[in-house]
Amino acid sequence: MSKVTYTVVCPYDKSHKFPIVLDVRDDSEGVESTFEEYCPFCDRYVRVKIDKELKPDVEIYRRFGFRNY
Ligand SMILES: [Zn+2]
Repeated sequence: MSKVTYTVVCPYDKSHKFPIVLDVRDDSEGVESTFEEYCPFCDRYVRVKIDKELKPDVEIYRRFGFRNY
């Protein structure tokens, strides 16, 4: 597992960029993950796609979880 800092580019406005830290699998070459992340500029959750596989518990946490943390 690796922690990577990833810069999210908001799909609604490409000038919206903000960093997030993700746990990803090291052996996830060629795998894409899609999840929702909070855009502070839009003040809502936006769909983000990365070219790594997230740790499963992180993915579940983000998909079903506690969005007001
Ligand atoms: Zn945005």
